[in-house]
Amino acid sequence: MKAFENFEVWFVTGAQLLYGGDAVKSVDAHSTEMVKGMNASGVLPVKVVYKGTANSSKEVTAVMKAAEADEKCIGVMTWMHTFSPAKMWIHGLQELKKPLLHLHTQYNREIPWNEIDMDFMNLNQSAHGDREFGHITARMRRPHKVVVGYWQERKTLEHIAVWQRVAAAWADAQEMLILRFGDQMNNVAVTDGDKVEAEMRLGYHVDYCPVSEMMEHFKQIGDAEVDALVETYFKEYDHDASLEDRAGEPYRKVWNAAKAELTLRSILTAKGAKGFTTNFDDLGEFDQIPGLASQRLMAEGYGFGAEGDWKSAALYRTVWFMSQGLPKGCSFLEDYTLNFDGEQSAILQSHMLEVCPLIAAQRPRLEVHFLGIGVRKSLTARLVFTSKTGAGVTATVVDMGNRFRLIVNDVECIEPKPLPKLPVASALWIPMPNFEVGAGAWILAGGTHHSCFSYDLTPEYWEDYAEIAGIEMIRIDKDTTIAGFKKELRMNEVYYMLNKALC
Ligand code: MN
Repeated sequence: MKAFENFEVWFVTGAQLLYGGDAVKSVDAHSTEMVKGMNASGVLPVKVVYKGTANSSKEVTAVMKAAEADEKCIGVMTWMHTFSPAKMWIHGLQELKKPLLHLHTQYNREIPWNEIDMDFMNLNQSAHGDREFGHITARMRRPHKVVVGYWQERKTLEHIAVWQRVAAAWADAQEMLILRFGDQMNNVAVTDGDKVEAEMRLGYHVDYCPVSEMMEHFKQIGDAEVDALVETYFKEYDHDASLEDRAGEPYRKVWNAAKAELTLRSILTAKGAKGFTTNFDDLGEFDQIPGLASQRLMAEGYGFGAEGDWKSAALYRTVWFMSQGLPKGCSFLEDYTLNFDGEQSAILQSHMLEVCPLIAAQRPRLEVHFLGIGVRKSLTARLVFTSKTGAGVTATVVDMGNRFRLIVNDVECIEPKPLPKLPVASALWIPMPNFEVGAGAWILAGGTHHSCFSYDLTPEYWEDYAEIAGIEMIRIDKDTTIAGFKKELRMNEVYYMLNKALC
């Protein structure tokens, strides 16, 4: 897959020299065949590179140091073909900060009942070799993912694929700049947080960028460039023919929206930023909130958070990065308004403008309507659509003061009704296990009104992400009860208090 072609995952096989050089040669041959097979499966988005057997502390340390230093390498997979005394992994694991996956598998699928002898036993020892390795990762409290299953089975490979996508997004986040055009919306608590801790813990860097600096880019945008982008809009999106009337006010608004998009692109490119936030009270010379630009930039993978929400901007970029090439799409969304309807009670998800068209069920419609919020109360261009239906997962990160908490909720997008007087893009979902418990648990956990939604990611992605980041994750799903959830919140409070004290 093109999106991940610059990345590699290293595969290191654990063995030892107790059974002689011939055993190690067989281990090496088996590992080569397995890595080749995994790469040929078509299931893994990131290429696996076999880095040989590690038979001593010195060899383990050397390969882990090399993995840590290699720019393409986004993580390491380990597998113990024979028994691999785990003290020899201590120094190497201390060197490796990148994501770690421990694969518990075996070269042969079944026991060769009639041929098996002691030589075979000595060679094929992952049943206990992987437990020895598991002990040292547990003993060292080394965050990692364990995947258990036969290496040729699709299910096994799919667990590895999830981790690869998360590891790739993690690597992306370690070199991520989020630009804030304007500050947080005044007085809002949940979208704020500790940007120093975010960089230490989650990797990304957040900078303030004066809107006046953005306006320097605005001045450089040529009319011909804007004209061309407006033509692209008209080709890509359904719209009223009247919108193309060059003498009309709506046309001028679309034109100005296109200029805002080119301005944002220009400054994001110049600064090497992967995401941004806006503030509707801080718009420089923009004549409207640049909502259409935000929608289109999100679809291309730029992180976006409204009202200065930099945590959502970074998280959206990560969601988009992980889900590249997957079919159904993702978006920044906001809990908009409630629909009480018994078991079908649901939350309308939208934003005043900024919803990503990747989740659209139909071709988006370019429309211009009055928007009476912020410093410019103005006719404003936007893409209007409703989302696809089906299951998805939404996520947010909140700052609890002593830690970041990742909240993940399984949701079911259902068919919305038309909104003739609310021309915004939207989704309508039932949070699992139902509205009462789902919304109740989210509120108890202190979750935001903004979240990053995806149809394609499953909670397993978020488990892997939280494991790599070393942050709290709480999941609200079909099995959640309020009583159990409150207990988990209380237990986590103690766990993270102690964890902090121990660090
Ligand atoms: Mn908002």
